[in-house]
Amino acid sequence: MAQQILMKLSNGGCSSCDPPPAPGFSIGGSVGRGGRNLPEDARTIQSALNGVCPADGGPILKLDVDGIVGPITIAAIEKYQKRQLGWSDGRVDPDGPTIHALSGQSGGQAAPAKAGPKAPPPKATAQQNAQFVERIGSLLPRARHWISMAQLNIDMASEYLRRSPAGRNDPFPSLHDIGRGQLALFDKYFHTHKEPTTTKLAQLQRAKRLYDSMTTVITHSLLQAPMFGWGVGYFQPDPADGTLAALDYVAYTFYGGWQARRPDGRPRLSGDDNYKGAKNLREDTIFFPVGQLLTKTDNFMLETIIHELAHFVGPGVKSPDRIGDHTYDTKANFLTVNNWTALHTAECYGYFAAESALRNAITIPIH
Ligand SMILES: [Zn+2]
Repeated sequence: MAQQILMKLSNGGCSSCDPPPAPGFSIGGSVGRGGRNLPEDARTIQSALNGVCPADGGPILKLDVDGIVGPITIAAIEKYQKRQLGWSDGRVDPDGPTIHALSGQSGGQAAPAKAGPKAPPPKATAQQNAQFVERIGSLLPRARHWISMAQLNIDMASEYLRRSPAGRNDPFPSLHDIGRGQLALFDKYFHTHKEPTTTKLAQLQRAKRLYDSMTTVITHSLLQAPMFGWGVGYFQPDPADGTLAALDYVAYTFYGGWQARRPDGRPRLSGDDNYKGAKNLREDTIFFPVGQLLTKTDNFMLETIIHELAHFVGPGVKSPDRIGDHTYDTKANFLTVNNWTALHTAECYGYFAAESALRNAITIPIH
């Protein structure tokens, strides 16, 4: 059986989209950035966008259909345009391409000319690819910080579990609670609540070692930083950048790719392990479709880097303990999968590190 490539998806699929408005709707004036923004038109567009699946460029959180055009509505228009048209100006004009796409798609039965095939995502130039690899390099020290904060929390949670309970005459009983919050954070993502203490401790230590390997990869990359570029380094632009195939993910890599070697010591290629898709990709690489990532925030990129590293430094493709993609931040079950599943899910390692570093300042999903 062909192995599924480890993609970090650009969306979590679509389970509940609003019923679409009637096909062929129209607006009297433009809506969005610099538009006339008549409230009735704005409501029409807000409602139409709500009818588009997030997978197809609709908003992840439904817009308020309030007729007010603020930054959230404009951002939703831009997201839709990028996804469907390959560009964005944040405005829907009465007879422009956006409303044609929108009325075709939301109506579900528009003229074929309007509901044409998906536009491919933007393709980065060679210069943008080079700058992107530089950007990854500049983010790596922060990724290392996120990881060490995760490890600190793991250490404190472990100490809490090893400590004996406060005695009756203990003068400082509250000291016994140090680490309790850190364990709660670990459990938010990894759900050890029902496990015996020895299992909890073993799982904490295993997670810590996974993060240790990520640190090694990052350090190795930083030492190689002067050589970053196409063909060198663990972090590379995706050769499929700008193609329709690249619409579905924001990064991908291979199980245990970091240490996957052929018998002669050379890196394994995707075809060696029967991965789907291209057969000549080096497994010791994390690939990014750069054209789609130029506008992503640092926090989004950092979480994505750690997510990919979890696959990359975890067990290899033949191990039952390999780190896969059993859930994502955009799925409803992200925080409710079982203990085993969470421990084998890359997104959980990314978010535990993110929240360790950013405290409670993160929202799910990170944008
Ligand atoms: Zn993944």
